[in-house]
Amino acid sequence: MEPKIKITGLDFYYNGRPVLENICMEVVENTITAVTGPSGQGKSTLLMTLNRLWESIEGARVKGDIQIRFGQKFQNIYDPGFRVSELRKKVGMVFQMPNPLPMSIYKNIVFPLKLTGDHKQKDAAFRVETALKRSFLWEEVKDRLNEDARSLSGGQQQRLCIARALILNPEVLLLDEPTSSLDDTSGRMIEALLLEVKKTCTLLLVSHYLDQVKRIADKGMHLSRGQITQEW
Ligand code: ADP
Repeated sequence: MEPKIKITGLDFYYNGRPVLENICMEVVENTITAVTGPSGQGKSTLLMTLNRLWESIEGARVKGDIQIRFGQKFQNIYDPGFRVSELRKKVGMVFQMPNPLPMSIYKNIVFPLKLTGDHKQKDAAFRVETALKRSFLWEEVKDRLNEDARSLSGGQQQRLCIARALILNPEVLLLDEPTSSLDDTSGRMIEALLLEVKKTCTLLLVSHYLDQVKRIADKGMHLSRGQITQEW
């Protein structure tokens, strides 16, 4: 089992206030690592350090080292030569509230391909279908791809957002409370698809639900006041 992510001595500050302190952890490839803990302990911030999403927040600052292995080589994702656009292709993210764009189901899924210029007309339809199949959504939407994505149920919208993240074939997927806004049945379906996705991707899952963590996570860590207080 090869490590995929190595975090060493990670500190994070909002306007000088520390919210992560000396985080050291390794994430093994093709596993689901759960990050648990009450609200306000730095879980979302920790995820955002892995795709540099926090960089648009004024007054935010990071210290420490995050290495992710792409191919055979570990790379420091904060190296000045490391392009954030490349990072975001390889490290996808799904949020607590499903956030479909105001456009059709098909256009939602194909959007990242257009955004990254990775858009070959020929294989776009195939890639959309593959992403929707990986998200367990294809059978439900294959006959209505031109309908507005906002007409889908909450659970379907969240699977759409997962498909939108998967179309770029990310190597790492960050999931911030992906089932908190959903009913049990929808949540269970997402758990099942994440277990499939981890065969080809490394997942970090922030979750409030200890039963969910027990069901699907390979490893877990508990964050309290910005520090890892427990690992299993
Ligand atoms: P969690 O995901 O565990 O709920 P967060 O990472 O969202 O925790 O937040 C950790 C701490 O950082 C909290 O005290 C929160 O209020 C603060 N925080 C989060 N985002 C910002 C921001 N954009 N500006 C200032 N403080 C923030």
